[in-house]
This record gives sequence, C-alpha cells and structure tokens, in this order.
Amino acid sequence: MSDVEIKKCKLYKKCGGCQIHNLTYDKQLLFKMKKVVKLMGKFHRVENIIGMDNPYHYRNKVQAAFGRDRNNRIISGVYQSSTHKIVPVDSCLIEDEKADEIIVTIRKLIKSFKLKPFDDKKMTGFLRHVLIKRGFLSGEIMVVLVTGEEAFKSKRSFINALLGRHPEITTIIQNINNRRTSLVLGEKSITLYGDGVIKEQLCGYTFTISPKAFYQINPVQTEVLYNKAMEFADIQKDDIVIDAYCGTGTIGIIASKYAKQVIGVELNKDAVKDARKNAKLNDIKNIDFVCADAGRYMVDIADEGLSADVVIMDPPRAGSDIKFLKSVVKLSPRKVVYISCNPETCARDILFLSKNKYKVRKIQPVDMFPHTEHVETVVLLRRKNIDDHLEFTWTDKDFGNKGSRATYPDIKAYVQDKYDIKVSTLAIAQTKAKCGIIERQNYNKPKSEKSKQPGCTKEREDAIIDAFRHFQMIP
Ligand code: SAH
Repeated sequence: MSDVEIKKCKLYKKCGGCQIHNLTYDKQLLFKMKKVVKLMGKFHRVENIIGMDNPYHYRNKVQAAFGRDRNNRIISGVYQSSTHKIVPVDSCLIEDEKADEIIVTIRKLIKSFKLKPFDDKKMTGFLRHVLIKRGFLSGEIMVVLVTGEEAFKSKRSFINALLGRHPEITTIIQNINNRRTSLVLGEKSITLYGDGVIKEQLCGYTFTISPKAFYQINPVQTEVLYNKAMEFADIQKDDIVIDAYCGTGTIGIIASKYAKQVIGVELNKDAVKDARKNAKLNDIKNIDFVCADAGRYMVDIADEGLSADVVIMDPPRAGSDIKFLKSVVKLSPRKVVYISCNPETCARDILFLSKNKYKVRKIQPVDMFPHTEHVETVVLLRRKNIDDHLEFTWTDKDFGNKGSRATYPDIKAYVQDKYDIKVSTLAIAQTKAKCGIIERQNYNKPKSEKSKQPGCTKEREDAIIDAFRHFQMIP
C-alpha cells in the first residue's frame, strides 16, 4: 500500500469528515488495525486489514447542502463538523467525481434560473440539498433535489438544462423537506425524470437503489467485505441462513446461491419492500424477508423450536441487543458471521457470544472508509465443539420430553458407576436420537455426505439405554 499516491485536501480541518486524512494511507491502515486489535485482539488474532488500491473517490453517494456565504453568493458543500455552517466544496477526494461535477452544475443552474438556496434559519427558499447516488458498475446516476417547498419554478426547463449538461443522469427526483430537521430527506418524493431508482451490480447480482434505502457507500470494498462474509459463513447446501438487519437484502441474496433457504429480517418496511423486489429482480426463490425487529423475530422462532444453521448479522452502529444475542444462543446456529461498522459495539456483542457457547474464529477488518476513522470488521464465531455445547446448554428442561431430571453428566455418571465405561455426550445424544427422544433440530445431523459422526459401540449404546430407563426417559 506504500505506493499509494498521496493527495492532500485543503479543507480537511474545516470539513472534519476525514478525521485521519493527515496520515499516509499506510498509517491510516495501521491506525485502524490497532483500533480493532485493542478492542477485539483478546478474542482472536486479527487478520491484516484489507485496504484499497486506490483509496480516493470511492463514495457512490454524495450529498451537498445549499446556502449562501457572507457575500450572499450561493454555495454548496458540507456542514462544518459539529456546526451548521456550510463549508463550500467543489470537489472532494473521497466522493465520486462525476457527482461533484453535477453538484457544481446545479449550483450554477439555480443561479441562472433565479432559484433560491434554502435558508434554514428563516426556513425559506428553494434548494436545500442535493443527493446523488451513482452505480459504479451500471453507470446509472440518480439526482435528488431536496427542496424546502414543492413549487418548482421553470421545472421542465431546469431539468432539460441539467440533462443537457449531464446526459449520463438516469433519474431525477424532487424530495420535499420543509421541516426543521437535520435529516436530509423529507417524506414526499416526486420523480421528475426516469424511474426514481437506479440499479447497481454487486457480486454478480443486480440491486435497485432508491433515494432513502441504505446501500453500502463503497462499492469496491463492499464486494471484498461480502466475499469475506461468504467465505467465513461457508454455507452448505442444506443450510438455513438468517440475514439479520438485512436492509435491502444484499447479503441474503448473495448467500442464497449457497443455501437451502435464507430469511432476511429488517425493521424498515421500505427496505423490506426493496429487498423483495431485489429477490424478484434476481429471480431468487429460496429467500423470504420479514419486516420485524431482529431480536423479536429471533425470540419468536427460537420459541417455536425452529433452527438456523448460519446467522449473518449486520447491525447498525449501535450494535445488536441482548434479546437478539440470547436468541442466537438459543437457536444455536453452527456459525455466526458478524459484520460491523463499529468495533466497540461489536466487541461488546461478541463478548456475550463468547461467554455463551461461541468461539471467535476469525476477525477481518476491511477499510470501507479510507481517510475517516471508521473501520468495518467481519467476525466469524463458531459454536463450540458439540460436547462443550451440550454440557453448557442442555439443561434438565431441554433434556427430554418425559420430564426427566437427568442431565448428561448424570447419565455419564450412571454408566460409569454401573458399567465402568466412559460415554461421550455425543454418544448419549446419538442414542437419544435412536430412541426417538426429541433432540434439538440442528444437533448431530450430518449436514453433508462428507461430514462424519463417530459411531457408538453396541456396548455403550446398551449402557446408555439402560440409563435412559433408569431415569424414566423411555419405558
Ligand atoms: N445488511 C444491509 C444493511 C445493514 S445497515 C447491507 O449491508 O446493506 C443496518 C440495517 O439494520 C438497516 O437497514 C436498519 O434499518 C436495520 N435495523 C436497525 N435496527 C434494527 C432492528 N432492531 N431490527 C431489524 N433491523 C434493524
């Protein structure tokens, strides 16, 4: 990474968006690596962070606020960190260059069309923000004009003038935001040109991106991140996979080709609608999306006695919650792949899972946001080996359907005392299965032809069956 050309931004202190831009890219990666090691190194060795070959102009989503400077000139740019003052920006080292060009054009056009920038103190004026999303692979470009009022003077000629200068734009949307809010987008959107969305390709699939839906902002590194997540998940063809916090379904759709069934869970109903459309667009039949709180949904399916083989989770910065994590433990998937944009909350959550049946097996940081202090991490957790897992979780209540008080250690002790032989938890579980005593669904069933389960000798099996009788688990 040392041959990365160094480009410097004059605005970096004023803008505040790129907190570590003063460091060379090598040092930035080291900074992020240290951060992850500090927070997560206690769980496992941290793999080397995957950086970008070209860590500039990676953002496919660009936003600019509009206003006036002291001399009453129209400006567009970003809010100075922690203030509401606009720092004028014409080009930014991390933003898509085409998007920056379009914003400058719009600024010139509103002047010539005598449209006013919005004044958020007086709450008057027209153009408040411009949001641009660009499909790096598809080439499609969405322009969202966020206006303080719906009335749009010379709308047609404005659109034509913009398209005349940038024929590469594929859709233009007006979004009305007349509230005193720091949110960029308001409730109402009107499509002025094109179909109101753009399409983009990711890991060989096509996704629809709408103005409001979450979509990863660094498409190059997203492929790297998702490919890592798939490698870690190592999904088998009979697996049931849960894509929790699924957004518009990207991860679940990518996982669907390896799995038997995927269930995506997402709170935002618009994102769920987009996710369903995306599944259809890619002709994927083995995926369902549920609009629900991920924790609540997991509790429900765990209560119903359903199982999952792999859980992929990609929560927001705040991380997951105890309800979700407890139900992961209850569902007991073979693997949990945790994708995180916040190593602090990720470390907190994986600590819980590490104390409850799971072991961290891999930690891979990926640099999704060069020049900023943010770092993305994929963590692989694996259920501890089956014996450990059973010792830990299988309580009296879980043990059988006959109201028995016997635990695995009880049975082991009985067999040891009476027959002077040692039996493993696995052998007990296998014998239970043979005797038709209800087992957890995802335990002890070979997932593929290849996986081998050690057999249990006749002598051991008879001893275990005797113990079952002794504890009245079978007649
Ligand atoms: N996995 C997606 C989106 C990740 S962003 C992708 O990579 O594109 C995190 C997502 O979690 C957002 O879409 C947000 O709406 C959703 N979310 C936040 N809290 C949630 C909750 N309690 N239950 C389910 N989804 C939630």
